[in-house]
This record gives sequence, structure tokens and C-alpha cells, in this order.
Amino acid sequence: MNYKILRSQLVTGIVCMLCLLFQVTESSAQGFSESEVSYVSASTPGLFEGRSKFNICSDDLLKLGFCFPLPGCNLISDWHRDNTDHSGVDIKTFANDTVRSAFNGVVRLSRNYGGYGNVIVVRHPFGMETVYSHNSKNLVECGDTVRAGQPIALEGRTGRATTEHVHFETRINGVAINPNWLFDIENHTLQPVCLEVKKTGDGASVQIISKK
Ligand SMILES: [Zn+2]
Repeated sequence: MNYKILRSQLVTGIVCMLCLLFQVTESSAQGFSESEVSYVSASTPGLFEGRSKFNICSDDLLKLGFCFPLPGCNLISDWHRDNTDHSGVDIKTFANDTVRSAFNGVVRLSRNYGGYGNVIVVRHPFGMETVYSHNSKNLVECGDTVRAGQPIALEGRTGRATTEHVHFETRINGVAINPNWLFDIENHTLQPVCLEVKKTGDGASVQIISKK
């Protein structure tokens, strides 16, 4: 075998190994596991430690700061539209408009992900996560701390999308819940509501327990 080719293959192999090592180090430094930095749906470690259920109330979320993720938007496609498994709501303003974090949190995922296109997942307290997808550009990286209202992406149509919009999801312990439970999509406010979150296997079952 040609010595030069062998040497270049060895160098490439070592560089790749170093890249992988660096990625692993980076992930653990951010406190996220490999699956947490890879997938849209991921459970929150320790969420049910010492308990089998808990409540999340919009009042508690509001105290952490709140901003509607796409001010001025219209709803163009609702949760479970036409009895499909549409796992979020589609909201729209115009191409490259600023997409904002709904609450304070830490960016768990920022990558291109199949039909989601460029997607951001922000992890908030109480096991809540918000998902913003089809972005023309992601503005934050995995591990970044973000404040409510902070620009995190630009509205786009990457992935499986036929028009510029934000596919917005709310997830608890990885399970998508109806964003209309928490958000008044028409008025761009939070619903006065408490959700009960119960442990089920690796996920959670969530139901509305009160509307004030
Ligand atoms: Zn959608």
C-alpha cells in the first residue's frame, strides 16, 4: 500500500477521533447527554425524582419571564389539524422575522433535523420545553442560556414546509402537548391554567386540572 495514502488515512482517522472526543466533552460540559443534544424529543433527567406527579401553572412560568415566540403572527395550522398527528401549531408572519424564546431557559438542541429543518429546542424549568422549527437560520447554540424574548432564530421554510412559518411545539418530559393549553395563540398571551404532569414510563401524561 502506498505509504503516503496510508499516512493521510491515519491522520484523518485521528482527527475524526479527536472531533468525537471533543463533542463528547462539549456535551458533558453543557450537562446534556448525547441523546439530549441529538433529538427533538428527550426526557428531562431527574424530573420525577422523589415524586410521581407535579403541577405546572402558567403563573409560575410567567414569573420566569414570558414573550410570545412570534409577535404579530397568525395561526395557519392548528394542533392535530384534520385529525393528523401534527404535534404543534404553525404560526406565521413573514420570511426571516425574529423568533423569540417564550421563557428563560437553556438551548438543548440547535441543529438541522429531518422534516423539522433548522430547529431549536429550549429547556425551561418544570420539565417544560419549547420547540421552534423550519428556521431559515438558528441564532443560538446548544448550551446557550436564553432569556424570554431573546432572538433565537429567523423564520423560514427549511425541512418539510411549504411556506415560511414557525412550527411551534410545547413538550413536557419529551411528550408533545397541545400548545393551546398554555398559549392563547390569537391574543399572544399565556392561558390561566395549571397542568398536572404524571410519570408514565419514560414520558409523561399531562392533563389540564384548572382554569382560573
Ligand atoms: Zn407544523
